[in-house]
Amino acid sequence: MLKKTMLAFALVCGTAIVGSPGASAGPQSCESRSNNTIAKLLECVTVDGVREHQAAFQAIADANAGIRTSGTPGYDQSAAYVADRMTAAGYKVTVQSFQFQTFISLTPSVLEQFAPTPVGPVVNNIMSYSGSGDVTAPVSTPSAITGCVASDFAGFTPGNIALISRGACTFAIKATNAFNAGAAGVVIYNNIPGTLNGTLGSTFTLNIGVTAVTQAVGQQLASTSGLVMRLKTDTFRGQATTSNVIAETKHGNKNNVVMVGAHLDSVNAGPGIQDNGSGSAAILEVAEQMAKVKPRNAVRFAWWGAEESGLVGSTHYVNGLSTAERNKIALYLNFDMIGSPNYFFGVYDGDESTFVKPPGFVPPGSAQIEDTFERYYNSVGEPFQDTDFSGRSDYGPFIAVGIPAGGLFTGAEGIKTAAEALTYGGTAGQQYDPCYHLACDTFANISLHALDVNSDAVAYATLNYAMSTELINGAKSKGNFKPDHDHDEVAA
Ligand SMILES: [Zn+2]
Repeated sequence: MLKKTMLAFALVCGTAIVGSPGASAGPQSCESRSNNTIAKLLECVTVDGVREHQAAFQAIADANAGIRTSGTPGYDQSAAYVADRMTAAGYKVTVQSFQFQTFISLTPSVLEQFAPTPVGPVVNNIMSYSGSGDVTAPVSTPSAITGCVASDFAGFTPGNIALISRGACTFAIKATNAFNAGAAGVVIYNNIPGTLNGTLGSTFTLNIGVTAVTQAVGQQLASTSGLVMRLKTDTFRGQATTSNVIAETKHGNKNNVVMVGAHLDSVNAGPGIQDNGSGSAAILEVAEQMAKVKPRNAVRFAWWGAEESGLVGSTHYVNGLSTAERNKIALYLNFDMIGSPNYFFGVYDGDESTFVKPPGFVPPGSAQIEDTFERYYNSVGEPFQDTDFSGRSDYGPFIAVGIPAGGLFTGAEGIKTAAEALTYGGTAGQQYDPCYHLACDTFANISLHALDVNSDAVAYATLNYAMSTELINGAKSKGNFKPDHDHDEVAA
């Protein structure tokens, strides 16, 4: 559908077919010209260009134990790659280093059943900030399956492995109660279908191994008497250094800055080529193709570190700004997972038309940013839907200080509905990203169609605001760039 729409668009603008791989971009090549209209920029922002960066991230992960986790060489080399490309493109680049409490699983966690029957390895996902250990012991459950209060472990046999259900309190509280009751290890099972990827939080320091299994496996184990299992975890928890990469245009109003960001780090389980190589690569490609544009507003691109450890990099950045510096930021656009294989086109619900938030949670201006993305999807004939402004990604620290934000999301561990499958295609009943936070989140874990559409959406919004934020904060811009109106008008 997208391609047909694009052909119509190209005809209107008399340029080459937009976004199709290998299409030459007319007399002046993309690298040498100023892509100062939406039509020209979208022509040069190609899915192949974005994939080139994802391939570079994959190669970096391959060379570094398969991960790009903050605090590891895989992340540092990803940051160096971005910094080098942005410096070569003529941006003012700053690498902002900071310390954070990291967690690294040094070897894959092992969970095995020995009795009543030797079943062998059981699929499990270590909890972030788990301690280390190698124990083989009987498995028992607390009196209340969620283990949220110490008395739930009255009568628990010290030295056993505790089997606990998700729900009602944090994973850290469950593990602490078990530890205090003398448990030698902890297995937490999900309380809904699907994999459980959880964290104990960076303040968890007890030396006990904690891992997670699905609801089905957990309920089966809980109903097995005479259960004996082995749990082996081998982790590092401690202070590590990582960084944010910030790249700003040399031109444009520095008192009315447009920020565009994506986290660059992966979880510890895999290379993170969709989460969040997709967003990192898309904003890198857009920045490169905008390199010769003279924006009216300064544009500041940001690649965040340690997002997977709790939005640490973006929080460090915002907390490091003075009030005056914060007031110079007109808006923040966030792109975290924009190419999910079983995607939907989600737009952060800035006008709270679907997901109502506490008063003051969503800063004014965020609704207009939502409109911008919806206008883009309409202009290329793509369906879209609201997605929760949950604060689960790097826009969180920005909206917390009143900076309007928006962004896109194509789905993670959530399950696609039958209605969504009718709208977007793909598979109902399956996760939007079946490889979310797993080792299989590789170069192959992508929807090229979603990535293609969304890379153009990133370009469309970024250039629109680079030229005018009048609709967001009333800031007038010189020149005749009409903000945010109909696609073609902008292109003319
Ligand atoms: Zn992410």
